[in-house]
Amino acid sequence: MPIASINPATGETLQTFESFTKAQIDEKLQRASDTFRVYRETSFVERSAMMMRAAEILEQEKHDFARIMTTEMGRPITGAVGEAEKCAWVCRYYAETAQQHLADVQVETDAAKSYVKFQPLGPVLAVMPWNFPFWQVFRFAAPALMAGNVGLLKHASNVPQCALAIEDIFSRAGFPEGTFQTLLVGSDAVEAILKDSRVAAATLTGSEPAGRSVAGIAGSEIKKTVLELGGSDPFIVMPSANLELTVNTAVKARTINNGQSCIAAKRFIVSQEIYAEFEARFIEEMKALTVGDPLDESTDIGPLATEQILKDLDEQVKTSVAAGAILLTGGKKLEGDGNFYGPTVLANIPKDSPAYSEEIFGPVALLFRVDDIDEAIQLANATDFGLGAAAWTNDESERNQFIDNLEAGCVFINAMVASDPRLPFGGIKNSGYGRELGEFGIREFVNIKTIWVK
Ligand code: NAP
Repeated sequence: MPIASINPATGETLQTFESFTKAQIDEKLQRASDTFRVYRETSFVERSAMMMRAAEILEQEKHDFARIMTTEMGRPITGAVGEAEKCAWVCRYYAETAQQHLADVQVETDAAKSYVKFQPLGPVLAVMPWNFPFWQVFRFAAPALMAGNVGLLKHASNVPQCALAIEDIFSRAGFPEGTFQTLLVGSDAVEAILKDSRVAAATLTGSEPAGRSVAGIAGSEIKKTVLELGGSDPFIVMPSANLELTVNTAVKARTINNGQSCIAAKRFIVSQEIYAEFEARFIEEMKALTVGDPLDESTDIGPLATEQILKDLDEQVKTSVAAGAILLTGGKKLEGDGNFYGPTVLANIPKDSPAYSEEIFGPVALLFRVDDIDEAIQLANATDFGLGAAAWTNDESERNQFIDNLEAGCVFINAMVASDPRLPFGGIKNSGYGRELGEFGIREFVNIKTIWVK
């Protein structure tokens, strides 16, 4: 696949890039390896100062970075500005907390002294997706670099300008050359890079097939991986929920980033007592969304990131409708240029349709009616994914049942699922393993070294 920036709102090719040659890749890997030996000796105070500077650059130039994101992958501009701000937040968070998260842990044993020490692993390969083209990278890079590792970014092939801008931010922040490098390569180059002995570990955020492939290669090389994969998050609504707030949040949770979020609410599981009212209000709010130019601040939904994503989404919807799903609104590409897909709602989704079992990556909501909480939990868990889950209820017993029984990496009650630098983030089942963010995230790419002194 060529490495190219194509504006998804117009179809215009903005810039194309040659893939790195083997010699260029080798040079970058050698630089990463050489830099690591020096960079690992830097103190938390030094790293923290550079990470704070990266945060400042992100904040000062957030509008420029947002424009790159929006023109390259279609995220509406207001969200893209927010994304740059959130990247600054995660840089600050780890600049302030890394030392404490990685402080030695004393353990009482029969030794004179025994403790656990955390040390960096080396160059970490980050294979990243286009959907939050800055955030996914910073949430890996901020903890990894603060822990003393160096980063190698293989970004998605449709966001090369974002990839280069991020490399430039770390460089301008003062990190030594080689601490964070972008590799302009396609996915076919990943295997050889991962097998290279200079690469210590890998993280992948992306689809399930990509995760299986990278984890398989890393497994054969006995290299640590973290996988952040897809999701089909349930959003459960019980009768005691505040319906107006719930519907409002439900629409936002489904359509954020044009519906292309791993933790977007995808399956709306609604108690039969309030189903009719929820469905009517939900359709009304979906229809009221503004679809259009992502550079316009009033736009709710921009184009899907690539033409292929639009085709795949349309195919999933059409196949599901052919299998018996009821199309309540939308269901087609909008006329004209760009990858615009109308906000869509499907109900009565049959078990053998793609909408029931596959991840739906776009502004397409799936509605399910359930009799009671047991059926709600059973349906919510009837998926191979397990990333996030949201449940809306004001009943304490129901709340506890959701917290205890939903199979997901996180459960949000009366709120939409969102990531926060202070809290661990990640999935179970086919949504992946390992955690990013918080104290757990920074401990993924470290040697947890046991020290025993007699
Ligand atoms: P993708 O097609 O899997 O691509 C992700 C990255 O993996 C890209 O850099 C891609 O490179 C690379 N890649 C693809 N196939 C590969 C392979 N066989 N071997 C090595 N690398 C490979 O995913 P996407 O379409 O960019 O992103 C959407 C997916 O990411 C969705 O499933 C979404 O749910 C998931 N996601 C998960 C999280 C999370 O935190 N759990 C967050 C965001 C997104 P090329 O671009 O060069 O093909």
